[in-house]
Amino acid sequence: MSVLVSGGAGYIGSVTAEMLLGAGRRVVVVDNLTRGHRSAVPEGAAFVEADVRDSARLEAILGEHGVECVMHFSASSLVGESMTDPGEYFGNNVVGVIRLLEAMHTQGVRDFIFSSTAATYGEPPEVPIPEDAPVRPTNPYGESKATAERILRWYETIHGFRFAALRYFNAAGASRDHGEDHDPETHLIPLALSAAAGERESLAIFGRDYPTPDGTCVRDYIHVQDLADAHILALGKLGETKENAFNLGNGEGYSVLEVLSAVERVTGKQVPAVDAPRRPGDPARLVASSARAKKILGWRPKRVTLDEIVRDAWAWKQRFPEGYGD
Ligand code: UDP
Repeated sequence: MSVLVSGGAGYIGSVTAEMLLGAGRRVVVVDNLTRGHRSAVPEGAAFVEADVRDSARLEAILGEHGVECVMHFSASSLVGESMTDPGEYFGNNVVGVIRLLEAMHTQGVRDFIFSSTAATYGEPPEVPIPEDAPVRPTNPYGESKATAERILRWYETIHGFRFAALRYFNAAGASRDHGEDHDPETHLIPLALSAAAGERESLAIFGRDYPTPDGTCVRDYIHVQDLADAHILALGKLGETKENAFNLGNGEGYSVLEVLSAVERVTGKQVPAVDAPRRPGDPARLVASSARAKKILGWRPKRVTLDEIVRDAWAWKQRFPEGYGD
């Protein structure tokens, strides 16, 4: 079976492509390389530089490579950026999905694994968050993913698509060869590692006045290889369950200050930090209940402690100090 991995030159897509190849699947990566890196595409995967919004191109790729399933990672995914440029988020994440689904429909491909997000929930009324919590996003990024999930349900009802929407909490860590390299980098763990390494003057702590134990935001960090595992399991279960949405997290929340302590423990270096205002769109606390993914997909995260996750991110950074170098 051939799997099309859109965004396979990006962080989570490249790790998943690597694991799909390891599991004996044929993989074709489609990426427009605006944020991805050509050298992140794992060896053994076919690569086509294309945008998912280019339906005609996508139709041709689906046909030529005998694709039976699409894993859709390519998206704009920054909460802060979505609060200043909503058009980019609805264009790339909603229009992009529709064009991709239409190309699939034309080619008779109906299996779809979708990268969704905890940001669909907004400020959740209960934590850990179950999948049936209200979907009330507090930023256009979450809104774009929630909208795409609803669109997918119609393709399921009308065209017989089979899909899983995997709602990631905070992806972190790295495999040996694939890690996080964004430009600009906005994520907490890579920024803290970079501050510890002396590459940046300090890390800004976005808000200390949240209703959390130490006043900083709490997030659920999940190892990127555990996320990749869940994609492969979800692919194997398509059509076997009525459930489409699955949270992927560890079920443990860590504050920004706890993450900084973990980075200091793992690196043995201090993280210079300064207080900064809240980042617009940030909910106070996002922690997953992943009971459904465990029960239905048989998912078992293997690298669960914050220190393990940070250690792998640090190891990758030391192995690739310039990231992917492009
Ligand atoms: N954060 C921070 N300083 C930074 C980057 C992030 O304090 O330089 C905080 C951010 O407000 C959030 C948490 O760290 O509460 C995780 O942010 P990240 O951007 O890594 O992921 P997100 O939760 O937005 O997906």
